[in-house]
Amino acid sequence: MSESIVLENACGIASPARDKDPRAFIKSFGCQMNVYDAERMGDLAAEAGYREARRVEDADLIVLNTCHIRERASEKIFSELGKLRELKEERRQAGRRTMLVVAGCVAQAEGAEILRRQPAVDIVVGPQSYHRLPELLREARARPGVVDTDFPAEDKFSRLPAAPFDAIRRRGVAAFVTVQEGCDKFCSFCVVPYTRGAEVSRPVAAVLDETARLAGAGVREVTLLGQNVNAYHGLDGEGQATGLAALIRAAALTPGIRRVRYTTSHPGDMSEDLIQAHRDVPALAPYLHLPVQSGSDAVLKSMNRRHRVADYLDIVARVRAARSDIALSSDFIVGYPGETDADFDQTLALVRGVGFASAYAFKYSARPGTPAAEMSGRIDEPTKARRLAALQELIEDQRQTFNRAMVGGRLEVLFEKPGRREGQVGGRSPFMQAVFAEGPKSLIGALAEVEIVAAEPHSLRGRIVSPAS
Ligand code: SF4
Repeated sequence: MSESIVLENACGIASPARDKDPRAFIKSFGCQMNVYDAERMGDLAAEAGYREARRVEDADLIVLNTCHIRERASEKIFSELGKLRELKEERRQAGRRTMLVVAGCVAQAEGAEILRRQPAVDIVVGPQSYHRLPELLREARARPGVVDTDFPAEDKFSRLPAAPFDAIRRRGVAAFVTVQEGCDKFCSFCVVPYTRGAEVSRPVAAVLDETARLAGAGVREVTLLGQNVNAYHGLDGEGQATGLAALIRAAALTPGIRRVRYTTSHPGDMSEDLIQAHRDVPALAPYLHLPVQSGSDAVLKSMNRRHRVADYLDIVARVRAARSDIALSSDFIVGYPGETDADFDQTLALVRGVGFASAYAFKYSARPGTPAAEMSGRIDEPTKARRLAALQELIEDQRQTFNRAMVGGRLEVLFEKPGRREGQVGGRSPFMQAVFAEGPKSLIGALAEVEIVAAEPHSLRGRIVSPAS
């Protein structure tokens, strides 16, 4: 029987000896960290000799890198697995073996239940164990139905292969670098502490090595990633714990790196040092995504957020004192158990008071196994929908106001890709806005000053006014 690997997001894994041209396809759902993990799984596959399958039908290895954040995440994955079971059977009848892997947070949360409900799955692997994918594939070929949802003591990152230069180039000029994983905060609504485990920080040298390698392959902007990134406390060369601000200062000195970003932060870990980095480090983009979730202290307490509205507003004031033009972004949950109309009005008041450049709002939905899932005071769907619509309207209004204020001014844009129209290139402003301008493709990977001539619904349009650098 022939065998190969398929990954959406283009990755690969251990090469079966009998295959001449094994292919892998990785499909990734959810957050930026899952995108990063999918790329790393692709590096594992490439190292093992797998090439990327462009279509799932051509893949000998299919990996679903799942996310548990969205509503009914598990049910959606089981529905997808049902279709893949049929594909696997069709391929079997054509004489080709397909290995089916479920990775990510649903794998961690559901474990062996996935095999029980969908026996076509060969491997279930959690986010802290995927570096073992080559070994798991060998095991599963001999005996399908392998589950690895451990939180191993070993450093996952040190076991992952370095990304090949050509793979980095394909991914573009802006890249993620995971610096921290897991979370110790235990917000009442969130599964992350259960699916990703306790906070673990990578050593400073490992982060800087990966950043330098990315820069060497043409990356110009790195986003330092972590579930709770500003809790970063990786060890330096002398074994001393180092905070995120020092890591940012060091990453910004990497030759070739022009911009540094970080996400996602918790208000409780917004140190003065980090705030001052926004004033002192020119390469640190003036953009901060700082989730607050609610404008009501009662709801924040029930969410176990460990901060009050006043704490959040104090951070906003200090960040703006350090960097007056900073673009602020946030996350909100509406319809949390027990949220009253008065609580929700306080959320609207907070948004009006802060003035966000962008923000994300979601209706609360229970995650099995979290404390909030057991709480009384459930909010009915029409109320949640009404609150969500009101909040989103306000957020959108603020986003448009922020973007319109750019018209007539100049922004430094990092060009990342060809534009939507012929002769256009597209990139990002320091404030994370999509910007399009007439210009040659040779600008991709360069920074140029752009005069903003129009604010369109989802992007800015501009004219390049200074040479690229
Ligand atoms: S800080 Fe973020 S990742 Fe951690 S439990 Fe709260 S919401 Fe989840």
